[in-house]
Amino acid sequence: MKKKLPVLFIGHGSPMNAALDNPFTRAMAALGESLPRPEAILCVSAHWLTEGELRLNGSAPFETIHDFHGFPDELYRITYAPPPALDKARAAAALLTPAPAIEGRGLDHGAWTVLRMLYPEADVPVFQLSVDYAAPGSFHYALGRRLSALRDQGVLIAGSGNIVHNLALMSPEQDGPPVQWNLDFDLKVKEYIDKGRRADLADYAALPGGRLAVPTPDHYWPFLAALGAGLEDKASYPYEGYHHATLSMRAVLFG
Ligand code: ZN
Repeated sequence: MKKKLPVLFIGHGSPMNAALDNPFTRAMAALGESLPRPEAILCVSAHWLTEGELRLNGSAPFETIHDFHGFPDELYRITYAPPPALDKARAAAALLTPAPAIEGRGLDHGAWTVLRMLYPEADVPVFQLSVDYAAPGSFHYALGRRLSALRDQGVLIAGSGNIVHNLALMSPEQDGPPVQWNLDFDLKVKEYIDKGRRADLADYAALPGGRLAVPTPDHYWPFLAALGAGLEDKASYPYEGYHHATLSMRAVLFG
């Protein structure tokens, strides 16, 4: 019997973190050293959005997708190419109805920026699952619950997004102090996780400040997938912090 793997959610913030050394990146490096070594990682990233369907990747060697604009050249030179975990992608497809197609898409920056901090050697096989932008929060929460069976098959499930993600109101300063509604929503989410109100987090718009904290749900759906996959487990927080005033960089480890 394989040991059940934990579930991770990481607030990834700006792509610039891939080229920076800051308390967040150092916490992720330390986390990578403390985690059990998985057979594969399933990343559910905010930067792979599909509508009305889910898709998996892992059927071809990974290209590093630099899916951002206006950043320094050094960021576009970073590559991260772990082996694709096609067998585990097939195992994930078998858990879902309808079974998502498995394609040869590369790794988007929601995946590679954080996986590179955790596993800099790129030696752990990876695959990704898209988020269905047309589906509600309850769908992504239930999706995580369905995928949790992979934890017994050597797969580390890692959501990558941000619990609070408001780009329209953000500060250019990464260290800019968090606005009050960012703190309030982020800490409310933590409270709900810790006090057994996890199911209430699926309908973020019904929570106080939800529409400011989550103006569009792309970065919140990966959190709900991780929340569902880690539902029965106690949570801890490998990183808690705020970037650009309106992003929560909270990381959550379930189990
Ligand atoms: Zn992002």
